[in-house]
Amino acid sequence: MTIGQKKASDAGLEKTAVKSLLLFASNMSPTEIYLNLKTEAPKEVEEKFYECLDEYIVKRRPPQYIIGYTYFYGYKMKVNENVLIPRWETEELAQNTLLLYDKYFKGKKVKVYDIGTGSGAIAIALSKEEPNMTVKASDISPEALEVARENAKMNDANVEFFESDMLNAVKDDEVFDIIVSNPPYLMTHEYVEDIVKNNEPNIALFGGEDGLYFYRIILRDALKHLNKDNFIMGFEHGYDKKNELNTLIKEYYKDAEIINLKDSAGLDRMTFIVKIKV
Ligand code: GLN
Repeated sequence: MTIGQKKASDAGLEKTAVKSLLLFASNMSPTEIYLNLKTEAPKEVEEKFYECLDEYIVKRRPPQYIIGYTYFYGYKMKVNENVLIPRWETEELAQNTLLLYDKYFKGKKVKVYDIGTGSGAIAIALSKEEPNMTVKASDISPEALEVARENAKMNDANVEFFESDMLNAVKDDEVFDIIVSNPPYLMTHEYVEDIVKNNEPNIALFGGEDGLYFYRIILRDALKHLNKDNFIMGFEHGYDKKNELNTLIKEYYKDAEIINLKDSAGLDRMTFIVKIKV
C-alpha cells in the first residue's frame, strides 16, 4: 500500500480512489505510471496530487467530483455537485432495460423516457447502446440538466432533455414505450455516509419518510403516458423495498407482470413492470 492509500484507508475511505487521483494529477496513463514508478514525480504533479488527497481525505469530497468526471456503461460522464455520481447499480438498471428491450421490442423503434436523469447517464447510455431508442429525459434541476446536456454532447448522444418535476411537464398526449427511473429513494432518517450526504445533491438522494415518495408519483402519473398495451417501466430502488413497491405497483398496474431483479451484490435493487400484448 502507498502512503496515500494508507491515509485513505485509515480515514475509512476507499483506497482505490487514490490511484484515480494519482492518474488525474499526473495526467498519465496507468502504463506510464508503472514505467515511471522509480522516477521522481515533477514538483507540480506532486503538489497537485497532495492537493487532491487533501480534498478527498481531509475535506471528504468524492473523488469523482475532484476529478470532474466518471464512467457509466463505458461512457465518460462529467459530474459535479449538482448531480448524483452515477453508481454501478444503475449501470445494471440500464443493462436490464436493454435486455428487456431485446426480449420484447427487438428491432422496433421505441420511445423512451428517463425521469430524474441527473447527469443524464441512463438516458445517454440507452440512446448510445440502442439506436432504435428515441430518448427523452427530464430533471427538476436546471443545473443538473446543464451537466446532462454537456454529457450528451461529449458522447455524441441524441437525447432530448427538458425541465420537469417528475412527469409534470410531459405533454398530455405524449406516450412512451419504455419509462425508466432511478428516483431519490433513501429514507429521510436512513443512515447515509457523510461523504455522500455532505456532497451529493440531497434532492437526488432522499425519497421521503419511507423512501417511496417518488415511486408513488411516477406510478400514478405514468399510467397515462405509457403505451396502453405494450410497455416496460423500470426502477432502481432501495434493497429492502421490493415488497412495498410490488404492493404499490399492483394498485395501479393490475394486469402487468412484475419482474424483481437483484443487483450483482445480490440485493433486490430493480423492479420492472411489463405489459406486452403482441
Ligand atoms: N444508491 C444511492 C446511494 O445509496 C441512492 C440513489 C438514489 O437515491 N437514487 O447513495
